[in-house]
Amino acid sequence: MEPTIVRTSAAELYDAYVLKNYGRPAITLVRGRGAQVWDDQGKAYLDFTSGIAVNALGHCHPYWVAAVQRQAGELIHVSNLFRNPNQADLARRLVGYAGPGRVFFCNSGAEANEGLIKLARLHGQKKAGGEEGKCFKIICAKNAFHGRTYGGMSATPQEKIQKGFRPLVPGFAFGELNDLKSFADQVDDTTAAIFVEPIQGESGVNACTTEFLLGLRDLCNRNNLLLLLDEVQCGVGRTGTFYAFEQAGIRPDGVAMAKGLGGGMPIGAVWISEQSADLFHPGSHGTTFGGTPLACAAALAVLDVIEKEGLLGHVRSEGERWLSELQKLATQFPGKVVGARGRGFMVGVQLTSDPTPVVAALREEGLLVPGSGGNVFRLLPPLTATRAELDRATDIIRAVLARS
Ligand SMILES: *Cc1c(COP(=O)(O)O)cnc(C)c1O
Repeated sequence: MEPTIVRTSAAELYDAYVLKNYGRPAITLVRGRGAQVWDDQGKAYLDFTSGIAVNALGHCHPYWVAAVQRQAGELIHVSNLFRNPNQADLARRLVGYAGPGRVFFCNSGAEANEGLIKLARLHGQKKAGGEEGKCFKIICAKNAFHGRTYGGMSATPQEKIQKGFRPLVPGFAFGELNDLKSFADQVDDTTAAIFVEPIQGESGVNACTTEFLLGLRDLCNRNNLLLLLDEVQCGVGRTGTFYAFEQAGIRPDGVAMAKGLGGGMPIGAVWISEQSADLFHPGSHGTTFGGTPLACAAALAVLDVIEKEGLLGHVRSEGERWLSELQKLATQFPGKVVGARGRGFMVGVQLTSDPTPVVAALREEGLLVPGSGGNVFRLLPPLTATRAELDRATDIIRAVLARS
């Protein structure tokens, strides 16, 4: 007997079956190409959400699609009990950008950050002469976002994220971003590491100044602390250099990356400097899915395209021009726009009030953008976005602000 097929809309199915942990707008996306996506009604959008800075090459870049299709037909998963050539290649390429060290592969930003938090604990133990539980404090920044796992959430001092889930992991302290003294004042014998985002993405696009990062590096050197960076959102070319920390001329001890790395394929990675990489030994950390041949093929395709299409230079030069255009919004709409800030293709526009209605109006006009903290909405175009696409986004924003 043929099964009876009842056609139910995605909206109805979400209502009935998907966990209600997100408040989503009433659109269903079905297809994408470059910086464009289409919903199930055929309406086109300019996608400057990019899956929250994930689709580095836009949607369905032909080179990426071909690499993933080829790999899917060859070998998808073997676990980390065996070697695979793509993981080896990708580790070499990431070390090439970050400096001498080693890479651990995982599946998400939060999982990459867990790797850094565990690295801090191992470093603290070594610092305390091998004694466990004596030196484990990690100093993070206020308004940070490091993910939804217990470690990441405990490093994220935001009531909306921690509420209901206490008790948290002990050992996290918080300093004021760009206030070196507020970090230095909290360093003591129990401190193992400092852990910050070079540019905070979720709380309003707040960048660490170069002086602050240099100061943190020096503070860590003087006190035998690891400097750990969460580049989950700002890494992989988003700010116009492969890693955001390059622009400060520092080298950290560990870096977490994820979002843009796979160009849409879930993958996370932790780079650990040569001096600290041996803190992990066989059996001390792991993951079943991390660094599959398929995920690594996707990430290798992202790196290939970034290099072949010169996307870092493109993001730097177009980003600078675009940001100065966006900054004019503050003078054009003084009652509505406070300013625009960011680096490369990671930009925040700060309004004088809650941006939710503006984000909804932009969507109506065909521009998808994510919100952020502090009355900010973000603009996260794919690294491949053209000058014409950037300008079209600015035009839509201007039109929406003019009538809101
Ligand atoms: C998104 C994000 C995370 C969490 O990554 P997931 O892949 O959602 O676990 C952590 N840190 C930063 C800075 C992020 O932007």
